[in-house]
Amino acid sequence: MPYLSSVPASGWIAAAPRAIPKNSWFTARRCPATVGCRSACPRLVRSAATGPGTVLHTNFHSYAKHYHAGWIVRVVAGYLRRFHNRTTATVVATADLRARLNALGFTNLSVLGRGVDSGLFTPERRCAALRAAWGVSEHDIVALYVGRIAPEKNLELAVEAHRAMQQVGGARRFVLVGDGPQRAALQKRHPDLVFCGAIIGEQLAAHYASADVFLFPSETETFGNVVLEAMASGLALVAYDYAAARMHVTDGETGVLIPYGQAAAFVGRGRAGSVAAASRPDAPTGPRVSGERGLATSDRAFRSNSLGCSRTEEVTIVMNEGLRVEWLVAGLLVGSIVAALVARRAVTAFWTLRAMALTPTLSRRLSRWVKPRSYSDEEFFRADGAAEPWVERRQQGLARLASFLRARYPRCADWGDALRTSFSDLRFTDANRVPFPFARFMRDHFNQCAVVTASDGPRLQDLDGHWTLDVGGSYGVNVAGFARYKEWMARGLERVQDLGPVLGPLHPVVAENTTLLKSVSGLDEVSFHMSGTEAVMAAVRMARFNTRRKLIVCFAGAYHGWWDGVQPGLGSERSIDDCLTLKDLHEASLEAIRRRAGEIAGVLVNPVQSFHPNAPPPSDAILLTSGVRRTEDPSARYAEWLRRLRAVCDECDVPLIFDEVYTGFRLAPGGAQEYFGVAADMVVYGKTVAGGMPIGVVCGKKALMRRFDAERPMRIAYVVGTFSAHPVVMGAMNEFLRWVVGPSTAQLYTEMNERSALPVRVVHLGTVWTVLFSEPGRYNWLLQYYLRAEGVTLSWVGTGRCLSSMDFTDKDYEALATKLVAAARAMKADAWWLSADEHPKREKNMRNRLVQDAFLSLARVPRPLQTFYTEVMRRKKDDHHASHSNLTNQLFHIISSSVFLGCYALAF
Ligand code: PMP
Repeated sequence: MPYLSSVPASGWIAAAPRAIPKNSWFTARRCPATVGCRSACPRLVRSAATGPGTVLHTNFHSYAKHYHAGWIVRVVAGYLRRFHNRTTATVVATADLRARLNALGFTNLSVLGRGVDSGLFTPERRCAALRAAWGVSEHDIVALYVGRIAPEKNLELAVEAHRAMQQVGGARRFVLVGDGPQRAALQKRHPDLVFCGAIIGEQLAAHYASADVFLFPSETETFGNVVLEAMASGLALVAYDYAAARMHVTDGETGVLIPYGQAAAFVGRGRAGSVAAASRPDAPTGPRVSGERGLATSDRAFRSNSLGCSRTEEVTIVMNEGLRVEWLVAGLLVGSIVAALVARRAVTAFWTLRAMALTPTLSRRLSRWVKPRSYSDEEFFRADGAAEPWVERRQQGLARLASFLRARYPRCADWGDALRTSFSDLRFTDANRVPFPFARFMRDHFNQCAVVTASDGPRLQDLDGHWTLDVGGSYGVNVAGFARYKEWMARGLERVQDLGPVLGPLHPVVAENTTLLKSVSGLDEVSFHMSGTEAVMAAVRMARFNTRRKLIVCFAGAYHGWWDGVQPGLGSERSIDDCLTLKDLHEASLEAIRRRAGEIAGVLVNPVQSFHPNAPPPSDAILLTSGVRRTEDPSARYAEWLRRLRAVCDECDVPLIFDEVYTGFRLAPGGAQEYFGVAADMVVYGKTVAGGMPIGVVCGKKALMRRFDAERPMRIAYVVGTFSAHPVVMGAMNEFLRWVVGPSTAQLYTEMNERSALPVRVVHLGTVWTVLFSEPGRYNWLLQYYLRAEGVTLSWVGTGRCLSSMDFTDKDYEALATKLVAAARAMKADAWWLSADEHPKREKNMRNRLVQDAFLSLARVPRPLQTFYTEVMRRKKDDHHASHSNLTNQLFHIISSSVFLGCYALAF
């Protein structure tokens, strides 16, 4: 059986006589280079147990450098080596390649010869019409290239050689058969070349036979079957001295062999040799060669390949090989990019997690599982595990307080009763006044409804005619004292009353207010809304619109109104993914902002947080132990933090937004910006800025306040409102703003901030203050009831956060201090705070009860079991009481206990 190269009877071939007959040959190009070989060439597979044999026919690793991806070479070579070394044998086309691969660490290599269909590829197919179509005469020399038109085929060198041949009157035309990524560029650069595209079968054979010289400058062949096809077609060959050319070309006889990789020699020697050879009148012809100028072909017989692979398939594979290389390179590139992105994301996620306040999300999730839990009348008084005598004192004290308040505020209580069921706002505030396990009992015995009809200085008159000191501060509106607001509201109304509720057209006072707000905020533009919440929504929306980013950063515990878009924790059911809650005063937060700057539309700060960083607003509703209420010395540390935040925002081009709904005009005429000495890019005001009328204001830099896009007319941020710039609101606002920028007001603020330092255990941030409890206790929230009995009005958050207005005189503060002390004394007298001597295990008991409460709120104990337990404990207590209060009982108790212990000892 004729063959080109015998297959060594070793490796997988030897072990698989049935798969490929010994001494047979086949075209290995059919088989994909690496993976998938098993399915593509099932006959190459020896057995699943010992692993398949593979054919390596594409030098992927050497391709890489032609794709400007030299760095991948090592990776690709390493991968291929690992892959092939795990197989039983790898079949390669030439001994030369085997040596090169061996040097790269490949093992188990075998050489398998190649053949060519000499019935198809023959000089007899030379076609005059085809040559005429190429524009050459019978005597002109035509250079040919067949294969992929791709960088790894080194075709620029072939063109150079062709040009050199042209200069000496050699090859007149250069014909390129095949297709590939470089074709368009080559065609553009060399319009005189003939590009035929991909051709197969007899047509391809005719192209071979009609040419004279085959230029093959490729350096990346494992074999190069086109060399055989060209030789079989009677062409002179110019190729590098390796692979198929080395095996079959006799230098100077059947072609010109150039030392591998020597481009200059390829041009020089190629030109001389090929021209001479191709024009030799006595060009040798083999027994099967009839081409007049053919130099050589194999004098051996060929047959079609043994695997039944058609030329069509082969050509397709030629194309696919290239594609696979590109895919491989592209895959590696994409893989590297993806890996880099994933790594970057992981680092960002790490910093985000470090900076993130987990409590909001966790508590929101937990809220779905926490069941209602109310202390029984018994449990109510023992929430800190206090001993019997204290419990009795508490019971008496609370009964006394309840009846005092009932007697003092009967009409307020009746009014509250009548309205509560139909006024949902009141029911909400009532429900959250005290920690929920205590709520039922308090509701049953107290009716804390403040219904007021008049104000006088910081005092309010209620429905029952009593005057009480107001430290509720109207949720923050009352900065300057009610008397001033009454005046501003009246004067403001007077100024606009000729216009009435006209909306749309604007009252001239709007212009004045805008100017004043710009000067107070130090920002470029102003927009008016109806409430703090609405203004926050507007600011966030405009920041998102103008930065084209989604994420809003806020800080743990900060309140920004009831919009769930800025309420990632308790208070809203919806889980939001565009508001990231970070920790206040934490280095990691700054880093997280830096790393995620590209996503962040704005960093939203509520400066009142300086008062209680990372915690929700202090309120009685969350007071379970004194430890919960943590406040800080607000100014210096927080100011430094804000300065650093400002610097990071500047560095990363992220807008810094101050929500000054609470702090604006309370801490200083210029709000927190002035108080802390830090300028924001956007500031939100509310509460007091409209002189007592409902309001929300956004001030901001021009670039952040746009609600339309000049470049994209259809992009708009639709932020409007019917009541925006309402004349009555604008009138009162004007009065307030003129007062606030007045010369004497700044001095007033300074005095107020100093005066509000009460000589009791309170912590304050300007005129915002809260009561601290130095003793641990589970009843701290009760102080609001005792204060009420002393004639102090608080908001529904109790002593958690109190406000004093500017009309608080020294005398008022003295009165407040007295009332605070008196209320605290009464509470202490009723045994709600027990010293360590009075209740030695108080901390431990409180902790245990808290854990128990938390557990019972999550895991529901069946009601009968609860009743049974309560009953057993009650009897136990009664028995204990009985046995210790009477001599005979004590005697019997000792006897029964001793008998029990004796039995116990016997039994065990
Ligand atoms: N932001 C802050 C800082 C606030 O304190 C408040 C209200 N307490 C709001 C926003 C929401 O304002 P409003 O109640 O007017 O909607």
